Amino acid sequence: MIKETAAALGAKIAAREVSAVEVAQAHLDRISEVDGRVHAFLHVDAEGALKAAREVDAKLDKGEKLGPLAGVPIAVKDVIATKGVPTTAGSKILEGWKPPYDATIMSRMREAGLVMVGKTNMDEFAMGSSTEYSAYGPSFNPWDLTRIPGGSGGGSAAALAAYEAPLAIGTDTGGSIRQPGAVTGTVGAKPTYGGTSRYGLIAFSSSLDTPGPCARTVKDTALLHTVIAGHDPMDSTSIPQPVPDVVAAARLGATGDLTGVKIGLVREFSGEGAEPGVMAAFRDTVEALTKLGAEVVEISAPHFLYALPAYYLIAPSECSSNLARFDGVRFGLRVGDDGKRSLEDVMSMTREAGFGNEVKRRIIVGTYALSSGYYDAYYGQAQKVRTLIARDFAAAFEQVDVLVSPTTPFTAFLLGSRTSDPYQMYLADLYTIPTNLYGGPAISVPCGLSEGLPVGFQVMAPTMADDRMYRVAAAVESVAGTLTPPAL
Ligand code: GLN
Repeated sequence: MIKETAAALGAKIAAREVSAVEVAQAHLDRISEVDGRVHAFLHVDAEGALKAAREVDAKLDKGEKLGPLAGVPIAVKDVIATKGVPTTAGSKILEGWKPPYDATIMSRMREAGLVMVGKTNMDEFAMGSSTEYSAYGPSFNPWDLTRIPGGSGGGSAAALAAYEAPLAIGTDTGGSIRQPGAVTGTVGAKPTYGGTSRYGLIAFSSSLDTPGPCARTVKDTALLHTVIAGHDPMDSTSIPQPVPDVVAAARLGATGDLTGVKIGLVREFSGEGAEPGVMAAFRDTVEALTKLGAEVVEISAPHFLYALPAYYLIAPSECSSNLARFDGVRFGLRVGDDGKRSLEDVMSMTREAGFGNEVKRRIIVGTYALSSGYYDAYYGQAQKVRTLIARDFAAAFEQVDVLVSPTTPFTAFLLGSRTSDPYQMYLADLYTIPTNLYGGPAISVPCGLSEGLPVGFQVMAPTMADDRMYRVAAAVESVAGTLTPPAL
C-alpha cells in the first residue's frame, strides 16, 4: 500500500527512484485487495493505467521534463467523459456507454501525465449525498464500512481514504466534492464556477456543476487544481482569466502564519441542528486559527437559510431539461424497441427502466417548477433567492477575506439511515449549497474527529479568489493535521 502524497510520489517518479509503472501496479494491487469491501470503483482500467504509466516512463527515459504529477495515479468520478472507457454517471440508462471523446479536464490530466486507474462510484447523475442512489450499489466508508462515504462523489473520496489512489476528481453541484471529503477525512475543493471546464461533464444542473480536485492533503489538491483549471473555449461559461496560483497559496498557508487574514464565522451556521462533536472540532480549529494570527469575526448571512429550498427548485429544474437527452435513442439503454411500438413508447419505457427513483423525483419536481403558471412562483422565486444569497456573500466579502463553517452538520451516517426521507438526505448539504448558488470556491479540509469519525472544515472565498481559500485551508491542515483511517 502506498500512503505517500501525490507530490512526494511525483517527485520520486521524476527522480527515477520508482517507475510510473510500479506506482500504477501498486495501486491496482491495492484496489484488488480492498475494493471488494469499499466499492469505490465502477470500472477499473488496469490496461489503460499501465499503458499511460509506460508512456510516462518512456518520456522520462528520453530525458523529457514533465509536470509534478506525471505518473501519479488518479481515480475519476464516473460522470466525466473518458474516451473509450465506460462512463455511466451511476445510472443504468448509460450502462455500456463509451464516450467518443475526453472531457477537457480529462485531456488536461492526460497531458500532465496523470495515470487514470478507474472510474468511481457516485449517486445516479450526481443526485444524492451517500452514493446509495447509485444504480450499481453503494460505496462504503473506509473509516467504518457500515457507514456512507458521502455523495454524490463518495467513490472518489472512498478511493482516497482507502489508499486506492492519491488523487481523485469529483464534481460539485451542491456539495458533492466537499461533503464526501468531510465524511472520509480527505480534502475536496469546489473551484470557482467557470474556473474548471464543464465540457465532457455529464450535465446535472449546468448553472451549478463544477468539476474539482480531491486528495488527502491540501497541497496535492492544489497541484491537481492547477492541472485541470483554466479557460476552455468549449465551455461557454468558462472564465477567460488566468488561474490563481493556488499552489503558492497552499505553501504560504502551510507556514502557519495567518497574520492579516480576516475570517468570518457564518452566524446562521453556528450549530443549530448540528452534531455537538462536529461543532466542537470546528470551534477548536477556529480557535487555533486565531493563534496563527487570523482575526475572526461573526458575519450574518441571513439568506443562507433559504439556500436549500432554492437549490431544490433550481437544480431539479435544470436537471429536468438536461436529462431529456436520455431518450433511448442517442445513448446507452433502449427498452421496448420491438419494431411495433411507437417512438414515444420506447422513450418512456427506456426512461422508466433506466432512471432510479431519486432521479425521477427530481425530473418531476423540476418539470413542475418550470411549467407555465408555476414558473414564476417556483423557479422564478428561487432565482431571486439565489440573487439574495450572492448579495450576502458580496456583503460578507467586503468585511472578511473568507467565510468558514463546518462542511456538514453531521459525520458519516449509517447506510440506510436516511434513504426513506429525501429531506433528511438533503440536509447533508445544508452548509455547502450557498456557495454553489453564489458561484465562489469552497474547500473541505479535515479538522478532527467526532466520536471517532472525521469532521470537515469548510473555507469559502470570493469568486476567482481560490488562492485565498487554499491559503486558509493549508493553515487549517497545519494545525489539525491529516487523518489516517483505521487499517482495512
Ligand atoms: N447532494 C446534493 C444533491 O443531491 C448535491 C449533489 C452534487 O453536488 N452533485 O443534489
